Amino acid sequence: MSGRYDVAVVGAGALGVWCAWTLAQRGRRVLLVEAWTPGHSRASSGDESRIVRTGYAADALYTRMADASLAAWRGLEASRGAAEAHLFHRSGVLWFSRSAGDRAEVTAATLEAEGVPHERLSPAEIARRFPQFALGGVRWGLLEPEAGAVMARRSVAHVAARAAQAGAELVHGRVQAQEVGDAPPRLTLDGVALPAGQVVLACGPWLPTLLPDLLGGRITPTRQEVFYLGVPGGEAAYGASALPAFVDFEAEVYAIPDLEGRGVKIGIDRHGPLCDPDTLERRPDPALLAEARQRLGRVLPGLAAAPLLESRVCQYENTASGDLLVDHHPADPRLWIVGGGSGHGFKHAPAVAAHLAARLLDGAPAEPRLSLAQKARGRQRAVY
Ligand SMILES: Cc1cc2nc3c(=O)[nH]c(=O)nc-3n(C[C@H](O)[C@H](O)[C@H](O)COP(=O)(O)OP(=O)(O)OC[C@H]3O[C@@H](n4cnc5c(N)ncnc54)[C@H](O)[C@@H]3O)c2cc1C
Repeated sequence: MSGRYDVAVVGAGALGVWCAWTLAQRGRRVLLVEAWTPGHSRASSGDESRIVRTGYAADALYTRMADASLAAWRGLEASRGAAEAHLFHRSGVLWFSRSAGDRAEVTAATLEAEGVPHERLSPAEIARRFPQFALGGVRWGLLEPEAGAVMARRSVAHVAARAAQAGAELVHGRVQAQEVGDAPPRLTLDGVALPAGQVVLACGPWLPTLLPDLLGGRITPTRQEVFYLGVPGGEAAYGASALPAFVDFEAEVYAIPDLEGRGVKIGIDRHGPLCDPDTLERRPDPALLAEARQRLGRVLPGLAAAPLLESRVCQYENTASGDLLVDHHPADPRLWIVGGGSGHGFKHAPAVAAHLAARLLDGAPAEPRLSLAQKARGRQRAVY
């Protein structure tokens, strides 16, 4: 650390690195503090890939945020050097409609109203373009052709490096907080107060560990697992140029095509048990693997017996509703809290950073859905 900073960002996950980069690009002197490394294996932003979709049922707020963020992710991919690995794969994202009025149908109406590119595909058209899918019970498909998958830990490291190029200073260390009643918490690094005019806490699932009085019960980390299943050798049918990512919230599953030979990734989008990101033992559960394999086989029968290549145990950092959190501490307008990604927050990192910068630097108004006041204790998931 050298001298005094305009802003200290604590946490170099997807949200923290985009905040640091955005603020540095706006000419602020930024300190980025990370307890491990950007996109490390315990972080919610770790692992290989994340879906970037714009569809959010009737939720125009998140559709707009995701659409703005998708442009930023695609811009990042376009700006990478020719010899650098991909940051974003434009595979498209496919939703299946199985019943009248379901999430795919509501999402299509929102994308239409918001002018976001999408296509409505009949089962025959899905079968023609993507013969890998079994379509029993599918009425039609909603394709987001511009959407896809971001390379998660790689892009976090990349954005951290871009933040450093823009002048941010990245330091390794774990910030401690002391909450005393309703007073602003005292934040220290190695026993010394953080030398910054404003502080952004972007600590993901560690936010309730850091500020237990304020955020305990308002952000609850849950254990989540993903599995990478191997595709047959010599077949291109499961790569990002042949297969879209797909989401099926009614069936609680999503999948990402085989990226860079790691296998098709499947996740069950159902909250697991509460967990502590520091101590969580990251050994996969065989019962969940069996369930994931069965669910994937139903949609992609060619992978019904696919072998497991890798698995990851991660955590969601859930707010009660699933709404993100971007607000200042109730006792300190210079202390900002950014998080609550709730299993869908990665894609929004560019839009979250833009919103934070507008609030912090331009005095932009709060977005009520992202406010601390809206964050109840408990769990009534409404955003997917
Ligand atoms: C299995 C799984 C699948 C997901 N799928 C998707 C998806 O397809 N699409 C999508 O958009 N989102 C998805 N998400 C959600 C998304 O990944 C997260 O919401 C997002 O990555 C959270 O980022 P973050 O920066 O808030 O937290 P993190 O990535 O956890 O970053 C927080 C950082 O803060 C650091 N830190 C914590 N405390 C301190 C401290 N005291 N001092 C210094 N550093 C500290 C940590 O080390 C960490 O690096 C998924 C999440 C999981 C777990």
